[in-house]
Amino acid sequence: MKDIIIIGGGPGGLTAAIYAKRAGCDISVFECMSPGGQVMTTPEIENYPGFSGTGFDLAMKFFEQTSAMGVDFQFENIKSLKKEDGIFKLCCESGAEFEAKSVIIASGARRRKLDIKGEGEFTGRGVSYCATCDGNFFKEKIAVVVGGGNTAVEDAIYLSKLCSKVYLVHRRDSFRASKVLTDKLPNHPNIELVLNTVPLEIGGDDKVNKLIVSNKITGETSEIITDAVFVAVGTIPETSFLPSEVELDKGGYVVTNNKCMTNIEGLYAIGDVRNTPLKQVITAAADGAVAATYAAEYIGG
Ligand code: NAP
Repeated sequence: MKDIIIIGGGPGGLTAAIYAKRAGCDISVFECMSPGGQVMTTPEIENYPGFSGTGFDLAMKFFEQTSAMGVDFQFENIKSLKKEDGIFKLCCESGAEFEAKSVIIASGARRRKLDIKGEGEFTGRGVSYCATCDGNFFKEKIAVVVGGGNTAVEDAIYLSKLCSKVYLVHRRDSFRASKVLTDKLPNHPNIELVLNTVPLEIGGDDKVNKLIVSNKITGETSEIITDAVFVAVGTIPETSFLPSEVELDKGGYVVTNNKCMTNIEGLYAIGDVRNTPLKQVITAAADGAVAATYAAEYIGG
């Protein structure tokens, strides 16, 4: 049995691993993809002190640091989790089972879909959820980014350096994204804002060639000719493996106290899966430090 199992290898999970390891705990980090989490797909990080570069580079630094400390990584997908007689029991998709005295949920969030016609059909053929992963396929081509948050604005700026033209389609006339990002938009004249507009359908032949949209003010329907549609309309917390007793908020995010502990003793939640008001690399990392410190205290480490 492990002292602490950390579910998720993003900035929060890896910081928790560093703190738990330094507290002398026997730990494992479970990650079903590559360590780094969503930060891997962030084009540029300029709000993490002491670092300037791509999200991929920062994620690699986190991974190298934890690996050098001898953190045990398990590349398994957790299917279910329950607490029985004070012990946490985890079941993996592979059928493997693990036990721990404490668990830190750092499973993050996945990209929300638009749920419009053509989205599923053209995924991988012009529809993408990751500008840094797929932007290169659309060099000198036209792209649409849908969304009005930090991800959408960052993606539009990133793509404007590759694509001949980028349409940023947002359903309102003001952005949810922070001012520091929206202030950069005028520096990229090939980004055209398409505001008060909702996407209705993605069309094409074998690949995307248009996005059909509707203007919310005029009610008018029109087509944007494009080679790609990048969907950046928010995230959904990854909580499907959690038992129903774990308290979630209205949005499905895990509720915690100021020690990052959930309503179940010994079970902690950190980063984007938690109902934190600010979802950033630095806040996920800070959550990881807090949760690991109190998890170590909980198990008597
Ligand atoms: P977000 O902040 O939730 O924004 C989602 C955007 O998509 C909103 O503008 C929303 O419109 C729009 N939207 C939602 N559903 C839609 C639909 N069905 N059709 C059309 N538009 C839709 O999501 P995010 O940008 O992915 O960011 C997630 C979290 O990560 C946030 O807390 C963000 O601050 C953080 N983040 C931070 C950074 C950074 O600090 N550099 C970078 C990326 C992400 P409304 O505005 O009308 O609701």
